[in-house]
Order: sequence, then C-alpha cells, then structure tokens
Amino acid sequence: PTAIVIGAGLGGLLAAAHLSKKGYQVDVYERLALIGGRFMNIEYQGYQLSTGALHMLPHGNSGPLANMLFALGADVTVIPSIPMATVRIPKNVNDTDYTNGFMDIPHVEFKKHLKAKNKLMMILLTFGYKARLIRPKNEKFKTWYSQYIQDDRIDRCADSFAGWALSTTADEVSTEEMFAIFDNVYKYGGPGIVVGGCQSIIDELVRIIRENGGNVHAKKEVTKIIVNDGKAAGVAIGNDEIYADLIVSDIGHAETWEICDPEMATLPGYDVYMEKLKSIEPSAGLKICFAIDEPMITHGGVLLTPYTRRINGMNEVTNADPNLAPPGKHLVMAHQRTALDRLDKIEEEIDLGLADLKDLFPGKTPEILMIQVHHGKWPVNRAFSGQDFGNKTLISNLFIVGDGAKGQGGIEVEGIALGVENAMKDIAD
Ligand code: FAD
Repeated sequence: PTAIVIGAGLGGLLAAAHLSKKGYQVDVYERLALIGGRFMNIEYQGYQLSTGALHMLPHGNSGPLANMLFALGADVTVIPSIPMATVRIPKNVNDTDYTNGFMDIPHVEFKKHLKAKNKLMMILLTFGYKARLIRPKNEKFKTWYSQYIQDDRIDRCADSFAGWALSTTADEVSTEEMFAIFDNVYKYGGPGIVVGGCQSIIDELVRIIRENGGNVHAKKEVTKIIVNDGKAAGVAIGNDEIYADLIVSDIGHAETWEICDPEMATLPGYDVYMEKLKSIEPSAGLKICFAIDEPMITHGGVLLTPYTRRINGMNEVTNADPNLAPPGKHLVMAHQRTALDRLDKIEEEIDLGLADLKDLFPGKTPEILMIQVHHGKWPVNRAFSGQDFGNKTLISNLFIVGDGAKGQGGIEVEGIALGVENAMKDIAD
C-alpha cells in the first residue's frame, strides 16, 4: 500500500515512521525547505534555539512520545527533570509580585503554603472528582473550582501551569481535560529535556522513515487533496498529481479542509463536521530565549512564575544538556500565553515579558537572543487543549495527526503521540 503524509512536523513524521514500518510506501511532503515544523532547532551563535518547542517532553523518558520513539527504534536521550518543577512565590505572603524578594519551592510543597481551609478543600475536591462524587458539567477548570475555593495563590498557580503547559488560562481548559492532564502526570511522570534539542528527534524519525524505504521531500507544498467518489485519491503539488491509498495530514482539520476538493461538501455529515471545525481555535504564545553567564535556575525542570505580569514559566535547558549553548553559557527559554485579543498589541506584550525578566532576575542582565510570537498558522497548539475532536475526517482514508488532533489529557507533543497512536488504530480498522 502507498501513503502520503502532508507536512513534516513531529506528528507527520511519527505517523510516517509507523506506516513505513508497517510496510506502506510513504512519501512525506513538506512545504518549507526545512524538516520538523515547530520542533526544529535554530542554531544562533552556538545556541540551539527552536522553531517552537522548548526542547522539553512533558512526560520525559517514560511518557507516550518517548515510549513511541523507543518502540520505533529511535536513538534519543531524554534527561529527566529533577525536580519536575519549582514555583517562585513572593517572600511576604501578602505580596502580589516579586519586588520585595521571592523563594523557589518544589511544586510538591505548594499545598504547604496555602491556608489550612483551602488546602483541605483542594484535597476534598480532587478526591470528590476522582470518586465521581462531583461531576462538573462542561465547566471550565477555574470556573468549576472557584465555586468551592477562592484563593489568589491557587488561581495564579493554575494560570501559570496552564499558560506554561498549554498556552491557555486555567479558564480556557475544561475541568475534564485538566484532570486528564493531572492523571497523565501521575501516570507518566514529569518532564525531561531532549539531548541535542528537538532536532535530534526529528533527525531520528527521518532516518527511520528512509531506512524503511520512505521519502521525506522538502519544498513541496500540497495545494490540493484530490477526492474521487468520497475517497481521498491523492494530492496535487503544483502541476503534479500524486496518487496513494491513504492520506495523513499534519496540518490540522481546518487547514486540511481548506485544500480539500470541493467534492467534500457533498459528503454525508458535512454540516456537522463544519460546525466542529468552527469550535477549533489555535492558541497563541510568546517565547523569549535568553543567555546568561551563570546558572539562574538550579535544575533542568520548569520554574513556574505565578506572580509576574505575563511570563508563566521558564526552563534552563543547559542544566540538562550543556551543549545547547556555547561553553560557559546558559540558555533559558521563557514562555507566556498570549490572549488572542492582544495579538494586535504584541509590542506591549513583549515589553511586559521583558519587564518580568527584570523582576525575576534582579541585578542581572540576561542577553536576549530571540523573541518569537506564535499564533494563527504557526501557533503554540493548533487547537486549544481539549478542543481536539479526533483523527477522523469525513473521508474514510484521510486522517489528521499533529497538535490539531491530540489524544485526551496529552500535553503538547505527548498529546501528538497519543493522537498518532489513535490514528494508527483507526487506520488498522
Ligand atoms: P507542525 O510542526 O506545525 O508541522 C506541520 C508541518 O506542515 C509544518 O512543517 C508546515 O510547514 C507543513 N505544512 C503546512 N501546510 C502544508 C502544505 N500544504 N503542504 C506541505 N506541508 C505543509 N511542545 C512540547 O511538548 N514541549 C515544549 O516544550 C513545547 N514548547 C512550545 C513552545 C512554543 C513557543 C510553541 C510554539 C510550541 C511548543 N510546543 C511544545 C508544542 C510543539 O512544538 C508542537 O505541538 C509541535 O511541534 C507541533 O507539531 P505538528 O506536527 O503538529 O505541527
């Protein structure tokens, strides 16, 4: 059998590696000159920056992505982050910013720093949800817990975690999705940094695809998906038409639909599918990469920063892999969720992030290496977490993978791996 994969991002390459191992003749077509999408390294003055991801796998070397990579035969090393995360809180309990000093506490000690009543309530709520005694009905996470707990510290930490991990607020994610995420953290563990950065995973996937007889073509934009008699027949790339038995798209439901033959509009279920498409929105974010001469975070995990204006968290990736920076230098990547209605005021958002850095590292002068804004067709996530509605389309041999079709509770690339796993099951059926 033959398969075409549209887009050589992580999702497309994972799917292609699986299919090529299963015996499909696979061709991956990527519109850009470079392979890897939002999971590539950008080398700048000896620093390994990236087109998107912060070189971090949310569940480290025991999560869905690492397990999938190892099963495919990829030779990648993921350094576990110990501790998983620390939280920077103001020294004075009543302060709402870092100007009077701060301390970093392990995330597991977070509850200790809450009022006794709220600590108890958090435990009861978690138990109540898990034991199915309380069932929120389509309520967003913060709206839901705020009925029971009002606590500024919990609100800030929930937003900081959601902003860092999902590029949303805690009120842009459903309670169900948030608990699925927590469950996955318990099940798979905390994050890890990929040695060599994102690029090493991409390079390994390309190697596996090629060793299995597949091809990865750069500078080949798919302009149309050809549909004949309700089946995907192939794709058009400029004036060429290429035919295949199976098509997998790594560009999300909405963009796949944009290049689909208009025949799709005559297919059963079209109206329902179009309604679902309307519910999907890409999430936006801003990343600041900076260099420092001395380590500022003492570990390779996440530093959550709930008392800033904008920055949700950061990781000092060189604490796990020193080769991500030139000798003697340290590389830190800070992330801030960006509200969609602030994209037209992005300069102000950048200034707020830079002001945060001053408060977070008083007296130090980080060297700013790169500031990136991710939105629209190069977003943080092609669908807000929990909005994904699966890998299937209206066409039985056309599937979606990537961060527009993640598995439930899957943070970022872990969700992509869970989604690819689901897609492979659907394809096998
Ligand atoms: P993409 O990488 O976007 O791949 C799609 C590819 O399709 C692209 O290369 C595109 O050029 C190509 N394409 C588009 N249209 C066509 C066409 N018509 N024909 C051919 N090719 C086409 N995740 C983590 O797990 N950990 C992190 O630390 C992390 N941090 C992040 C920080 C930021 C700032 C951002 C933006 C993202 C982060 N993510 C992180 C998320 C992660 O980077 C993405 O989820 C992942 O890289 C998306 O992969 P994908 O394959 O779904 O899509």
